[in-house]
Amino acid sequence: MPHTRRRLGIMGGTFDPIHHGHLVAASEVAKHFDLDEVVFVPTGEPYQKRNVTPAEHRYLMSVVATASNPRFWVSRVDIDRDGPTYTIDTLRDIKAREPDADLFFITGADAFTDIVGWKDVDQLWELAHFISVTRPGHKLEVSGYPEERVSLLEIPALAISSTDCRARVKAGYPVWYLVPDGVVQYISKHHLYREIPKQ
Ligand code: ATP
Ligand code: MG
Repeated sequence: MPHTRRRLGIMGGTFDPIHHGHLVAASEVAKHFDLDEVVFVPTGEPYQKRNVTPAEHRYLMSVVATASNPRFWVSRVDIDRDGPTYTIDTLRDIKAREPDADLFFITGADAFTDIVGWKDVDQLWELAHFISVTRPGHKLEVSGYPEERVSLLEIPALAISSTDCRARVKAGYPVWYLVPDGVVQYISKHHLYREIPKQ
C-alpha cells in the first residue's frame, strides 16, 4: 500500500570525507523502508572529534557526492547552528522544516551504539524511527531500546571509513572508488588531508 505521508531519511555524519559506505547505507535504507528522499546532514563542530575539516568543505563534498541522485540532498541545519551537534537538535530542526514528513534516522552500527550518550534520548524516539545498518568491524546491538522505534538492516559490507580515506590521502595512496570521483577531485583541488593535525 502506498504511504500517505512523505518518508524522509536523515543521514547524519561528519563526512570528512563522504564515502561510498555512507551512500550505500542511505540507498539501501531508502529501498527497504520505501523512503522518498534522504537528506545528508554534515555535523557542525563535532564534540567527540577534534580537528575536523572546515564545515564548508565537508558540506560541499556531500553536495558533490549526492548531486547525481534526485532523491538525495544535503542540509545545512547542523553546520549553521552554533556549537556541537546533537541529534535531538538535528531532528527538531528538520521536523520544523518538514512538518509533513515521517523521519527515519540512519546510523551505522558503531554510531548507534553511542546512542544512549545522546542528549534527550527519550525524545529522540518520538521524533524519528531509527535504522541501524551493519558495518564491518562493528557489532550490531540494539537491545534495551523501544522495539517499535528501532530497526536493523543488513547491508552490503563496505569496509571504508573516513579515517582511512584521510590516512590514505596523507600517505599518497589513492581513494579512487572508495569515494565518488567528484570527491577525489575536490580533495585534490583543495589539498585536503595532506597533513593530519595532531589530536
Ligand atoms: P570517521 O572515520 O571520521 O569516524 P566514518 O567513516 O565513521 O568517519 P562518519 O561521518 O563518522 O563516517 O559516519 C556517518 C554515519 O555513517 C555513521 O552513522 C556511521 O556509522 C555510518 N557509516 C560510515 N561508514 C559506514 C560504512 N562503511 N558502512 C555502514 N555505515 C557507515
Ligand atoms: Mg565515524
